[in-house]
Amino acid sequence: MIIDLSVTNVDRVFQYRIPPELLGRVRVGVRVLAPFGRGDTLRKGYVVSLSHTPSFAPEKLKALREVDPGAVSVQEQMICLAWWMKERYGATMNQALKTVMPVKSAVAPKEEKTIVALRSREELSGLLREAEKKKYKARIRLYKALLENGELPYRLTAQKLGVTAASLRPLEEKGILKIRTEEKSRDPVKGYAPAAAPVVLNEDQKRAAAAVKASMDAGEARTWLLYGITGSGKTEVYMELISHVLDQGRQVIVLIPEISLTYQTVMRFYRRFGNRVSIINSRLSAGERYDQLARAARGDIDIMIGPRSALFTPFERLGLIIIDEEHEGAYQSELSPRYHAREVAAMRATMNQATLVLGSATPSVESFYKAERGEYGLLTLGRRAKKDSRLARVHVVDLREELAEGNRSMFSRKLKELMEERLLRKEQIMLFMNRRGYAGFVSCRSCGEAMKCPHCDVSLTYHRDGILRCHYCGHEVRMPRVCPVCGSPYIAPFGSGTQKLEEITKRTFPQARVLRMDADTTAKKGAHEEILEAFMEGEADILIGTQMIVKGHDFPRVTLVGVMAADLSLYAPDFRSSERTFELLTQASGRAGRGELPGDVVIQTYAPDHFAITAAAEQDYGQFYRQEFLYRKMMGYPPAAGLLSIQLSSRKEEAAAAAMEDLQKWIRREFCFEEISVIGPVNGSPYKVNDIYRKILYIKSESYDILLKVRKSAQKREEENERYKNVNFQAAVQ
Ligand code: ADP
Ligand code: ZN
Ligand code: ZN
Repeated sequence: MIIDLSVTNVDRVFQYRIPPELLGRVRVGVRVLAPFGRGDTLRKGYVVSLSHTPSFAPEKLKALREVDPGAVSVQEQMICLAWWMKERYGATMNQALKTVMPVKSAVAPKEEKTIVALRSREELSGLLREAEKKKYKARIRLYKALLENGELPYRLTAQKLGVTAASLRPLEEKGILKIRTEEKSRDPVKGYAPAAAPVVLNEDQKRAAAAVKASMDAGEARTWLLYGITGSGKTEVYMELISHVLDQGRQVIVLIPEISLTYQTVMRFYRRFGNRVSIINSRLSAGERYDQLARAARGDIDIMIGPRSALFTPFERLGLIIIDEEHEGAYQSELSPRYHAREVAAMRATMNQATLVLGSATPSVESFYKAERGEYGLLTLGRRAKKDSRLARVHVVDLREELAEGNRSMFSRKLKELMEERLLRKEQIMLFMNRRGYAGFVSCRSCGEAMKCPHCDVSLTYHRDGILRCHYCGHEVRMPRVCPVCGSPYIAPFGSGTQKLEEITKRTFPQARVLRMDADTTAKKGAHEEILEAFMEGEADILIGTQMIVKGHDFPRVTLVGVMAADLSLYAPDFRSSERTFELLTQASGRAGRGELPGDVVIQTYAPDHFAITAAAEQDYGQFYRQEFLYRKMMGYPPAAGLLSIQLSSRKEEAAAAAMEDLQKWIRREFCFEEISVIGPVNGSPYKVNDIYRKILYIKSESYDILLKVRKSAQKREEENERYKNVNFQAAVQ
């Protein structure tokens, strides 16, 4: 018996003999120890396939030493998925294996804790009022959650509501609650039972759910695009489909971008499906992740909710994958293999004969294109689900006109007027600034020198604590007192990021209570939830923030959303910049008027005629899509054509440049008879990150297969040619 083994850190597959004593224990996906190289040092590797036919003389094969005792075994399917990812994204087998197996070692399973209320609802309400009087914030949140649900999952509650063990102890002593601890192998039907009766779906929702269910029952394994405006009830449709799949004894993965994975969202699923649900996210420790994946592998749970990486949940009977907010950039991995969750989900769904549902209020151009061509089934929800909830009125303000009429403030007259009105009426306001610290860079007013990160080709950003920070690598320095170049004391931060906006807002509206949410104020664990919760509780009138505040949160008292400079994201060096802008503006507009009160949105912009902005103002996805598709077609960008980007990077600037020079000449020559166009090379944006220089070459073609071929041969050249010795190669086809 022979095995093919992928040895860690070596991107090749090696064959080994299985000694008789290990025969029953070696399966595909198991981690093993094998003698490797001259000294026969033991290396770890994964079994990627088993066979009876050696590719060499059998007596030359070394024998496998041992099955790694602490290793997680993966399904054969995950190995296949890794192979596919390696091919599709041009990664090494080890990188691909690491991705499909998020946790490598077994960690002793921990016990599961649950917070259980010991008092009646009336008593809890009394305690809540008392806590409100005393302004005990964590307790208020806890009592509210307990009123909704008598039992709460401990880990999630502690993490998301900012409740600590120390704050629970006195409540335990007073007999208000107890913490129940169960062994890992507990009875799965115990715990918190499903509490919420499902809502009655409206006609649109019913139609959408029925179409998917009929297709599932017919044994099809289709992909569907659920295009529904914000608040149209997509989540309810997901839950209806999940329930159908569970009835068939199959399992479900729900992807939600990390940023939208709030306590409220997760509890909606818990309330409906009880402890058949688990959640995985980046804040879990390795042990906790292992626990959750092990539960999935054992079949203790049927629904896994999480970001991108939840795709690799080892369910044996996967029947449905849902990708909520499918347009989100976070579904694209930044690490090799640079996979897109949508593509990997489609692959996993195919392997399992499972259904894939993509949901969004602003579908990606790629997905809508496929839906239009009939590749995906298209389901539409055109109205908000709650009766009295309407779409907001949108006002577009031309900032050039404001300036021409002498208004130099960050607030247009329209926005200021509406804000004053809202503050008087005690309604809430959100101010959205797309892109954190887009300014805030520091420069010398005398010589013009800008303070840059020594490791990255980007400006440092000023923070109020007097620290300059690099948002790419985290490098920090104190703000210098004088210009390091000319010695002038006239050195100061420029422009207006979210911090600056906060300052100016406080100055302009001294009567208002202001909260800010961006990467800086949410760096601490749990801070994200705390800010949202405080705003929800009405502890502030205005919430200022970046992207973070526009994603999926439901604030019934917000009736005004201001977008400070809508066109900033239009100038990102990326062919998707219009799409991103449209998405952000639409999502931001979706925040106003979620409750019973009507909402207004003010979009301030220097480019009021840009189609991404006019379409967003009219909340008209179709209009945006048609324009954008024309542009993509004209420019030969995806999905109208395929795009291959190849990045060569190196710590040595000349090495990256020389290698790229070789590569582009070689590709132009090698593929001169193919229908491709080569663009560039250009410098990465930013050019230098973490002391590594990045050069990028783009290759466009109508044919996807040609691009895959180019990538493969380019990679081969990179591996075999001396010129590429100190250079890292990365390539992605989209
Ligand atoms: P989406 O996921 O599309 O943003 P949600 O599923 O979160 O929409 O629904 C928005 C709001 O409308 C939620 O508060 C939800 O409980 C409510 N809702 C959804 N469907 C219905 C329905 N059929 N009847 C009543 N309320 C509904
Ligand atoms: Zn200077
Ligand atoms: Zn840096």
